[in-house]
Amino acid sequence: MYADATGVDYLWSEPDEAMHAMVRDLFPLCRSITGPGLRETIHRIGRAIPLVIHEVPSGTPVLDWNVPDEWTIRAARIETLDGRVLIDFASNNLHVVSYSRPVDAIVTRSELAEHIHTLPDQPDLIPYRTGYFANTWGFCLPHCLWETMSDPEYRIIVDSTIAPGSLTYGELLVPGQSQDEVLISVHCCHPSLANDNLSGIAVATQLASNILGENRRLSYRFLFLPATIGAITWLSRNQEVAGRIKAGLVLTCLGDPGDFHYKRSRQDNAEIDRLVVRVMKDRGLSVVELPFAPFGYDERQYGSPGFNMPVGCFMRSPNGGFPEYHTSADNLSLVRSESLAESLSVLSDILKALDANVVYSRLDGRGEPQLGRRGLYRMISGQTSTGGATQEALNWVLNLADGKHSLLDMSERSNLSFSTIASASQIALHAGLIAEV
Ligand code: ZN
Repeated sequence: MYADATGVDYLWSEPDEAMHAMVRDLFPLCRSITGPGLRETIHRIGRAIPLVIHEVPSGTPVLDWNVPDEWTIRAARIETLDGRVLIDFASNNLHVVSYSRPVDAIVTRSELAEHIHTLPDQPDLIPYRTGYFANTWGFCLPHCLWETMSDPEYRIIVDSTIAPGSLTYGELLVPGQSQDEVLISVHCCHPSLANDNLSGIAVATQLASNILGENRRLSYRFLFLPATIGAITWLSRNQEVAGRIKAGLVLTCLGDPGDFHYKRSRQDNAEIDRLVVRVMKDRGLSVVELPFAPFGYDERQYGSPGFNMPVGCFMRSPNGGFPEYHTSADNLSLVRSESLAESLSVLSDILKALDANVVYSRLDGRGEPQLGRRGLYRMISGQTSTGGATQEALNWVLNLADGKHSLLDMSERSNLSFSTIASASQIALHAGLIAEV
């Protein structure tokens, strides 16, 4: 599904291989909330799936904000006065604080210290820092390196531009039979960070690629955008669409080997919140449930009071909850093909269950229908393929198909797996005992 910058085509590869190839391909780009690295990332995603790419001019009012000027970074270095390069953006783009303004100056060590970010507790790692609206410059470096820098003065070079341009985001709507939508939102604004950023991009791209070839009940909208300002920009331009979104997930941190985490939507007990937990339980996978909180990723924009969309956040190790988070250790060695593959598989199940989660009603709800006359005892005793349905599941479906209970309600109430209930509902449907409401 993906051809990388060197033209290597992963179209016929296994999805886990294609996803990891995509992470590797996008890793070197210096992304931010605007600029060439973000734009190139969105365009490369657009080679895998038919994205509509939007460019929103700087200065455009979006809700309470304005689209910022565009940041372009070409070079950044700290040098000794005799020309030795100590820190070079070219070797790792985390070295420069995102949105650093241009500077070419000789500064004292103590002046430089005000613009230096290190991690004393992780002295070998480079931190990731941003200064979007700070109108300053800064460098990030390993603490152990900073401690060796004892010259009285250094030469500082940041070759950047902050000027009117545009904010780039990508959008793909896969229409289903219904106008009701599922939103999948992924932030694309982090530079060379693999798990927080690129793993979500790769999994969402593969999910979209899979759904494109399927006939679905619901419509699926995929957004690839810079965090916060990107989501605010999209919301500002799509206020009528927001009302059609019945469920949504923000995806990130899906490539590490950690346990799954699910941050519930602001609604707290929405269909998506219950369904994620149900599907994980059905698969025998543990998931740590996190309450909604107004920080983290774009679930807080979709879940702002004026929208209150049921959008949760699905991760493996959560943001801030793994030692590599927002450091140079969140690199390609942290992201594993098998972790990406498992995340994709789980998310595919969640979206399939969402799609299948309808409400049925018995055509004649008086008493139990006679199953033997319809051959249904034979079906569920295993003589015919029933997709895992059981007599118990069929009884639950036939009892709770009252026009009020969804399949998820039935699964929760019976403590039978969603797929068992869904299979039983198909048997009842084909036997003419129930109809979709
Ligand atoms: Zn992050």
